[in-house]
Amino acid sequence: MMPQTAIFTTLLVASLLFFCWSVYRRFSLLCYGQPEERLDQPARRLAEMFLYAFAQLRVLRKPFGLNHFVIFWSFMILALANGEFLVNGVFPSVSLALLPEGVHRALLLAFDAVSLLTLFAIAFSFIRRLVVKPPHLDSLYVKGRSPEAFLILSFIALLMLAYFGLHGSLIALGMEDPSAMPVSSLVGSWLSSHPDLIPALRNVSWWLHAFVLFAFICFLPHSKHMHILTAIPNCYFGALAWPATQPREKFEKGAVYGVGTVERFTWKDLFDSFTCTECGRCQAACPATITGKALNPRQIVHAIKTNLLENGDALREGRSGTLPLIGAEGEGTNTEDAIWSCTTCGACMEACPVLIEQMPKIVKMRRHLVETESRFPEELLNLFENMEQRSNPWGIAPGERAKWVSTLPVKPFVAGETEYLLYVGCAGSFDSRAKQVTVALATVLNAAGISWGILGKDEKCCGDSLRRLGNEYLFEKMALENVELFRQRGVTKVITLCPHCLTTLKNDYRQYGLELEVVHQSELIADLIRSGRIKLDKKDDSLGKIAYHDPCYLGRHNDIFEAPRTLVQAATGVAPVETERHGRNSFCCGAGGGRMWMEEFTGERVNHARVDELLAQKPDTICVACPYCMTMMEDGLKDKGAGQVRVRDVVEVLAEGLLRKNA
Ligand code: SF4
Ligand code: SF4
Repeated sequence: MMPQTAIFTTLLVASLLFFCWSVYRRFSLLCYGQPEERLDQPARRLAEMFLYAFAQLRVLRKPFGLNHFVIFWSFMILALANGEFLVNGVFPSVSLALLPEGVHRALLLAFDAVSLLTLFAIAFSFIRRLVVKPPHLDSLYVKGRSPEAFLILSFIALLMLAYFGLHGSLIALGMEDPSAMPVSSLVGSWLSSHPDLIPALRNVSWWLHAFVLFAFICFLPHSKHMHILTAIPNCYFGALAWPATQPREKFEKGAVYGVGTVERFTWKDLFDSFTCTECGRCQAACPATITGKALNPRQIVHAIKTNLLENGDALREGRSGTLPLIGAEGEGTNTEDAIWSCTTCGACMEACPVLIEQMPKIVKMRRHLVETESRFPEELLNLFENMEQRSNPWGIAPGERAKWVSTLPVKPFVAGETEYLLYVGCAGSFDSRAKQVTVALATVLNAAGISWGILGKDEKCCGDSLRRLGNEYLFEKMALENVELFRQRGVTKVITLCPHCLTTLKNDYRQYGLELEVVHQSELIADLIRSGRIKLDKKDDSLGKIAYHDPCYLGRHNDIFEAPRTLVQAATGVAPVETERHGRNSFCCGAGGGRMWMEEFTGERVNHARVDELLAQKPDTICVACPYCMTMMEDGLKDKGAGQVRVRDVVEVLAEGLLRKNA
């Protein structure tokens, strides 16, 4: 064996052994996570992987994402060239030249062109980080300007330069055909006029290529660029259903609830933490972070990774880790303040390019705090007691539930006679403003001739806030009572006023074996408009310019974006104006995840931030489709001194239109 080959082989074997050892050390820690099924529906998973990992759908949402797309695909294509380089370094007679000539020439052309493209992409990355320096770079993509990031960019640039140096030299020496390598042949032509440089450049380029590859192999598992290994499988293992719905707990003697130590997360939660690219997109979308709360979803994921790595040795030895997962502020630990700041809006999950599920991890830690530690913000004590004793957040006597019907002839739900149960919900039953929405909905349903009825004083809270707050024990109790009640009464089709009831009855109760056909009022009415059962010939312009606010639990969590807009358009003849963040990227009102019942002690109020955004559109009316959003918008407008702007539920807009028509 030639000395060069011997040295190369030794270094390669050492690098690969170090790589395998590092990867094993890290990935073996996943075994300490809890089991979770993520292998079902392989065809759908492959499709998701193709869309998000290979087509980089979410990466491309940002203009500079194109640069990442180019680097990603160059990496994939050049993996073949680098693979050939490594094999050829050990077995000099083995190379891609053994392939049919046409295939080999096509590959050489691709490698040459892609290497140049990569060089440009890396140059853009350097210029962006060092010259343009967009202001968000330091606050969001915090590692974007770190020594590690520059090291990786330099590695890639050096690989490309070494590639051109090596192939240019080989072309100048007549050892490679220049016709398939236009860029390298330019280097070769230049070298032909500097023949004394050729042998040195060939050797330096070859060794530079080798050393950079070895360094890259060793460094990869120890850097945030580990996502190169994990992002593609993570997209394959991503949640197929929108994961606002959490798995049930098993309530049995000696059981541990929620996640209080890192190994209580599932293997997929832990794998997520290895996949985070620390791009900061979740942080940029999070209403809690934006308004100055302790929560930052990027840091939640990062803390899980740090905690796992730090406690790894203890886990291997069967001991508990010493670094707490929940506790005082510090690397690898999440504060309770951060955990309670989440509105469960899902904006983080919508933004993440590699399909990390941040929000469920927060809810799992809430479950631990509530169920194992009995530790939660003081103001939740009242809520939990009211829910347990009177099945509504305010603790109002259940007999008051149907008082809103006093002005209307409302029938009770009777299976076989009534088609839909109108599940009014706690806000629609007790909150004075939301009760007006319930009356509007009843008016519209009657006008369309829908057969509907209510459970009246027998209706109970669905338990949404409890589940999002982590009080799974009480949620389970209420869910079981409701499931029993619905079964007894023969309920199969439900209309909800509130998106939180919608998501709970439709998505969460499925876990209790209850499959209901649940529609949000806006969906049902939009269908009635489309089918001509509701007609509004006279358009109502009394509400002026209307801006629509997408409720997170209607839009992002249940994919209902068009129906509420259809109602506004049908009633007024004009589509509502859109805020900068709308639809799938809408900004939370601040009330989800049980935050409706909690105070905001730090930073700006979330509803103020949202109201400011809506007011920027200079609306006369803000339309919502959720009673929580209604409260948050009305309060926000009052606080901002913009009480002249009205807030209407979309069904109110339609009902007003119907009343005018019939007047
Ligand atoms: S769910 Fe919403 S509030 Fe919670 S971490 Fe994600 S973006 Fe932030
Ligand atoms: S969790 Fe996702 S969106 Fe957030 S920083 Fe990590 S990769 Fe980016």
